[in-house]
Amino acid sequence: MDANSFVFGVDLDGVCGDYTAAFRTIVADELGVSEESLTLERSWDFREWGLDAEGFERLHRLAVVERNLFRDMPAIDGVSDALWRLSDAGVWIRVITHRLYVNWGHETAIADTVSWLDRHRIPYRDLCFLGAKPEVQADAYIDDGPHNIIGLRKAGNTVITFDQPYNRDIEGLRAASWTEVEDIVLGLAAEGGHGVQVQLPGIDAGADRLDRQRDA
Ligand SMILES: [Mg+2]
Repeated sequence: MDANSFVFGVDLDGVCGDYTAAFRTIVADELGVSEESLTLERSWDFREWGLDAEGFERLHRLAVVERNLFRDMPAIDGVSDALWRLSDAGVWIRVITHRLYVNWGHETAIADTVSWLDRHRIPYRDLCFLGAKPEVQADAYIDDGPHNIIGLRKAGNTVITFDQPYNRDIEGLRAASWTEVEDIVLGLAAEGGHGVQVQLPGIDAGADRLDRQRDA
């Protein structure tokens, strides 16, 4: 890895993939209620859907292991294009996920995650499956989970909050779309002297790649 690369740590659920929408379809089916009865404006703990901690655990596990939640989740608008542009500009994409909290479901969780990343053409250099510790040495992170954002910032990291109903009370850097994420990350990388290069429209994205590597 180029020592001067700007490493961008990218969370998956609620940032690249629409966890709430995918989980809602499965939960509605399991509970025998309409999808519309389960609001998308939900809290982190799904109390609006009438789930307690145990109910959530059971449905999440079923969704991951039996219903391939991680394979079939819709992508969030614009994520692939924005990440490709960042990658072409020289940003190192490090995908970080906490998806291994379902015991005995790791094979499905990992296989479905990799297949999803391919199918949605998400570019990445590293893929990290993490347990409790949120940190993986990135120059900036994007996350939607309040505990992750707070934990990472407490440890001195730069974190962009990906806007979701359950994180609106968190202050600081925030993006409501992948276009906004792209702008913020290019700004941070340039500020940090990482020499990112934005491609001009109509120019082959790979044309000056070798020159850039030599200069770096
Ligand atoms: Mg997340």
